Amino acid sequence: ESVMDGDQFHEQDIANSLVEKYKAKCNLEALQEERKKLPIYNYRDELLKAIHDHQVLVIVGETGSGKTTQIPQYLHEAGYTKRGKIACTQPRRVAALSIAARVSREMGVKLGHEVGYSIRFEDCTSERTLLKYMTDGMLLRELLSEPDLSSYSVVMVDEAHERTLSTDILFGLVKDIARFRPNFKLLISSATLDAEKFSDYFDSAPIFKIPGRRYPVEIHHTKAPEADYLDAAVVTALQIHVTQPPGNILVFLTGQEEIETVEEMLKHRISGLGTKIAELIICPIYANLPTELQAKIFVPTPKGARKVVVATNIAETSLTIDGIKYVIDTGFCKMKSYNPRTGTESLLITPISKASAKQRAGRSGRTGPGKCFRLYTADSYHRELDNNTVPEIQRTNLANVVLSLKCLGINDLLHFDFMDPPPVGALLKAVELLYALGALNKLGQLTKVGRSMAELPLDPMSSKAIVASDKYKCSDDMISIAAMLFVGNSIFHRPKEKKVHADNARSNFHAGNVGDHIALLKVYNSWKETDYSSQWCYENYVQVRSMKRARDIRDQLAGRLERIEIELTSNANDLDAIKKSIISGYFPHSAQLRINGSYRTVKNRLTVHIHPSSGMAQLLPRWIIYHELVLTTKEYMRQVTELKPEWLVEIAPHYYQLKDVEDSVCKRCLKDMHRSLRPRLILVSTVSKFSFVCTQ
Ligand code: ADP
Ligand code: MG
Repeated sequence: ESVMDGDQFHEQDIANSLVEKYKAKCNLEALQEERKKLPIYNYRDELLKAIHDHQVLVIVGETGSGKTTQIPQYLHEAGYTKRGKIACTQPRRVAALSIAARVSREMGVKLGHEVGYSIRFEDCTSERTLLKYMTDGMLLRELLSEPDLSSYSVVMVDEAHERTLSTDILFGLVKDIARFRPNFKLLISSATLDAEKFSDYFDSAPIFKIPGRRYPVEIHHTKAPEADYLDAAVVTALQIHVTQPPGNILVFLTGQEEIETVEEMLKHRISGLGTKIAELIICPIYANLPTELQAKIFVPTPKGARKVVVATNIAETSLTIDGIKYVIDTGFCKMKSYNPRTGTESLLITPISKASAKQRAGRSGRTGPGKCFRLYTADSYHRELDNNTVPEIQRTNLANVVLSLKCLGINDLLHFDFMDPPPVGALLKAVELLYALGALNKLGQLTKVGRSMAELPLDPMSSKAIVASDKYKCSDDMISIAAMLFVGNSIFHRPKEKKVHADNARSNFHAGNVGDHIALLKVYNSWKETDYSSQWCYENYVQVRSMKRARDIRDQLAGRLERIEIELTSNANDLDAIKKSIISGYFPHSAQLRINGSYRTVKNRLTVHIHPSSGMAQLLPRWIIYHELVLTTKEYMRQVTELKPEWLVEIAPHYYQLKDVEDSVCKRCLKDMHRSLRPRLILVSTVSKFSFVCTQ
């Protein structure tokens, strides 16, 4: 019985055929004409002169004026590529990919040839690549092997206003490169007007403004706060569709899940409106959306129909979607926050800033007067929204960045030239973790282990687990696990109507209570044994696309291992060895069961719970290691594996002492208690009101 997701494939076909038709129409000539219509075109020569005259230039222009697609082409036409490649950095992978595709079409070359892109685990460039669109994080990685970026003649740090962690770090590094490479050109481009701040930071670099077309935007706020902004967004979109003149709609939501919900709701409700209603084409856009479907948002809307683009923040400035006349702004986005005390990071739905709200509204006034419907009150806007978004560097875990900087020989982190410095506590926490992982020595200097870790494009804990797997002779297994963990929560497919089947299929991989990490390894290996069969995936409720991604990532990790001279060895029969290897990287993430069925992290004493999706959720082992914490209604641990507490002391003696892993109550008693508790706890987890009182 095939359980292929029919809907998904059907949609993909439609998108593909639309894209094909669109491509055929957009011949090179037409594209060249389109280029000339962009606001930036009138400033081409002036801009090139400014770039010629100044080493560092800040460029500001409305979204859609043509900065990202045109400036690298202008530079190429002006001969800059004779001296080296041109890099254009993007905060988001989707943007890098989609813009490179667009530019390659404009230049009439194959993507990956003269124009390419490079994002983590996906390098679509070649020897002949001249214009390289890449995530800011990738350029940061390239700096590790080419600290002066000598193969580049120009670096354009695009979407600078986004202030991602990587962009902020790049600022400090490229600023330095500009000082000792007189031939090197640095462009900082931004959609918003805090250009003065960039100019100040880059030693008073001149600001080049591209005046954009801008039409008035009528802003509407709700009269009362909306309890359910998803429902409100759907209702508003349908109202616009039914009552307002032609023009596309752009809805801002916080993430994939919400987008899928709204897509469903829209489809459902539009079908209830009868056949007299004009066609409404729903286009979702978020980071993980498959490339074929992304292209759908750029296909012109057929006459008589209306398009509704349901997007995350990505549509704020990174991607320009033409013909938007109505914007629906829920007022929220997903934002990372970091607690340096506990070292935990969480992705929370947070109110946006006023600057974001203005950007969002502006999306509707690009091709004519627009309307923006804010699903929050005018009072909330004024009182509750911050003026600007806090830069990521001030609300994130810095371990990876510190490791990269150390690799670049930058030891004095406190005096690094940050545009906005991170909290000192967060810096110290990062150094502490890297020391615990053995990446830094007592003097804070990079070790050999640290250097190997930095070669791997993963977070430090994952990298350490892989580096340590050499010792446990299970590097082959460990990179499969790391790749599967990286792909994350999209591996198992759990359709609504087939939950029981899906859960059954999944439980096979958990046989023997091996833990979530090993279960992921089993999934990967079973798939591999079927010669990477898609049919196998359908039968086992595993997402083919995620598995293919895992395979790609695995292949790349294998390639990296060669560079750091770790031999590929599999030790699949010795599960303890694999677990120990995981613990070598993740030992700070250990937790101990408490009497009430919750857990307490060993080091920070946080109260946490096993995520219901874990294969360990019903078992409640006494000691566990987890991959990550996610905060929803509670702090949940995702991907959990049981461990023996003495392993912690064996593997990380500098981090754990015997007293950390000894129980305060005598071990024997606790063991008995645990045994008698188990069956009852399984019951308890279904009766939420009831909980145990801790009698310890
Ligand atoms: P900016 O960087 O100033 O915001 P861009 O260079 O990204 O502007 O976009 C300029 C124009 O190019 C947009 O208005 C849009 O029409 C077009 N464009 C950009 N990316 C794509 C794409 N992937 N597919 C089709 N058109 C695109
Ligand atoms: Mg742009």
